[in-house]
Amino acid sequence: MEIVKAHAMILSEEDPSFPWLRQIEYNGRISYKSEDKITDDSAPKFVKMILHYGHESVIEHVSASVRFIVDRGVTHEIVRHRLASYTQESTRYCNYGKKGGGIRVIQPPFKHPLESFDVWFDCMLHAERGYLRLLELGEPPEIARSVLPTGVKTELIMTANLREWRHFFKLRTAKAAHPQMREVTIPLLRQFQDVFKIIFKDIVSETV
Ligand SMILES: Cc1cc2nc3c(=O)[nH]c(=O)nc-3n(C[C@H](O)[C@H](O)[C@H](O)COP(=O)(O)OP(=O)(O)OC[C@H]3O[C@@H](n4cnc5c(N)ncnc54)[C@H](O)[C@@H]3O)c2cc1C
Repeated sequence: MEIVKAHAMILSEEDPSFPWLRQIEYNGRISYKSEDKITDDSAPKFVKMILHYGHESVIEHVSASVRFIVDRGVTHEIVRHRLASYTQESTRYCNYGKKGGGIRVIQPPFKHPLESFDVWFDCMLHAERGYLRLLELGEPPEIARSVLPTGVKTELIMTANLREWRHFFKLRTAKAAHPQMREVTIPLLRQFQDVFKIIFKDIVSETV
């Protein structure tokens, strides 16, 4: 068994021939038929104005994909966001017993790590033993998965437009969000703020 660090990263590359900011400006200016006002530096001011007036459908024309490595509990929460596309590691088709590998798990952020880690680790080993034993008995992975823990490492690709990502970050970086969700979404929001500055800079994640 291996303990894996949870994280998330943006996968999308910008198209250099038509940068995302210019694309949003161009689409937005169709509303006002003001394409003739496009200059080398007109996009940031225009896009700020669009967001200020809540004309958010304009930012739906640009999408971003993210690769999450999190536990199964966190992927269950992420896939509740309906305005997105997903591809998820399959516990039906992946055989974690192959090549003597065993399962991979994500360690939660314990309040009392000294006491809690050993209890958690024991439970993970126990689940792994059960899973491997079921495979040995001839059960297929899609049946043996019944004993996998919520802590099992899961990879997930999520693609959504920037409006949906804004909605996602507002919900999923808030204090009320699950700590293991916030562990990946707060650094991910910073990546979005680096890449898509104007669109995400007003979203402030509470750090505690
Ligand atoms: C802190 C927290 C606790 C939660 N606890 C629970 C829980 O205990 N149990 C539980 O089941 N879920 C829970 N959820 C999940 C939550 O109810 C939503 O399913 C999830 O956050 C997706 O949000 P959404 O529906 O706004 O977003 P999306 O599905 O991403 O949709 C984006 C927006 O599109 C619109 N939209 C999408 N689909 C429809 C539709 N069919 N009709 C009308 N408008 C639509 C809405 O305006 C929506 O906000 C929790 C979420 C959070 C953040």
